[in-house]
Amino acid sequence: MWSTARDVAAGDLVIIWQTRELIQPLLITPGKDLNSRFGYYRHADLVGIPYGSKVGSRNGKGFIHVLRPTPELWTMALPHRTQILYLADIAFITSWLDIKRGSSVIEAGTGSGSFSHSVARTIGSVGHLWSYEFHEARANKAREEFSLHGMADIVTLTHRNVCKDGFTVEDTVDAVFLDLPAPWDAIEHAKKALKKTSPTRICCFSPCMEQVLRTVNALNDSGFTDITMFETLLRPHEVHQLSPQSLTQAVEKLKKLEQKREDKRQHQIARSSKRKRDDLPETDIDNVGVKRLRTQESEEEDVCIRDIPDAVVDPGQSANQPPPIKISVSKVSPDVRGHTSYLTFARLVPTVPSKSVSIRE
Ligand code: SAM
Repeated sequence: MWSTARDVAAGDLVIIWQTRELIQPLLITPGKDLNSRFGYYRHADLVGIPYGSKVGSRNGKGFIHVLRPTPELWTMALPHRTQILYLADIAFITSWLDIKRGSSVIEAGTGSGSFSHSVARTIGSVGHLWSYEFHEARANKAREEFSLHGMADIVTLTHRNVCKDGFTVEDTVDAVFLDLPAPWDAIEHAKKALKKTSPTRICCFSPCMEQVLRTVNALNDSGFTDITMFETLLRPHEVHQLSPQSLTQAVEKLKKLEQKREDKRQHQIARSSKRKRDDLPETDIDNVGVKRLRTQESEEEDVCIRDIPDAVVDPGQSANQPPPIKISVSKVSPDVRGHTSYLTFARLVPTVPSKSVSIRE
């Protein structure tokens, strides 16, 4: 879809990564400049550098990374014209709709084209995506981007109200994805567009439960089966870097950790029995008990962060060898930070035509 050359060329679309929150697309146009709070850059200076380069600013204010676009980076950098689908949902939907190289897919609406870019890469030039958008300006802008990103042969974008007028193909697609305010109004139309020669799938994105219920009713009424709803929850992972250490050091650290745990346990038991002796009301004893459990839980979490023995290295490693690489470990946060969507999936299984029986006399 995008340039596969090693080096950046004039006219390439690149992704400029400044911080996690500041990622932007840039069309390399020699003669133009890029100004940001991380400095001043000339487009001409970026021509000929390898993709992935870190480039310092001309006025010494900072640096940028110049990256080759991918659907993932495009989703992080694209100009928002609507709410968009993010990677967690895109990956899940693609997998559950069984979208793969060569698939024929419908999506409505196109919106900002976030989902479209990922699907186009997955299906490749042997598949096809029919994308529908009823907001004319959005449809035109998306069409322009698809063409600029080399997707024009893979995606057909139609300006159309799919709830009222349906889709432009019949008995053609393997999968339908509806990201619309009223998906239930498009389900009968989707049924017509799905292939009748093999099992096919549909997914409807809904932000709230009321929409899910209406969608499920419509899917049932239209003869879809295996209706399943998933809620996508957000649970961050914290990544920590650990320095490699010897096996002996790791064992020592584990022993100390065990000892610390045991000391803490003994201390809690002593405190609890002292309270009992002092004849505290039952509820206080319970509170102590609960507190003890909580302390242990948080200690377990601390263990994950601070006390995992670092990566073990060969004890025979000599001092003049290059320093070993740091190892990254991740710890999942116990908190769910919210949800992105309810995704309702269903299947359409073709009915086997009954064999006609002819009776001969
Ligand atoms: N999935 C898109 C993405 O990842 O960028 C975002 C889709 S956006 C939330 C929903 C889009 O559906 C809007 O652009 C809206 O104009 C369009 N839309 C709403 N109702 C429609 C309909 N009946 N027919 C076609 N498009 C519709």
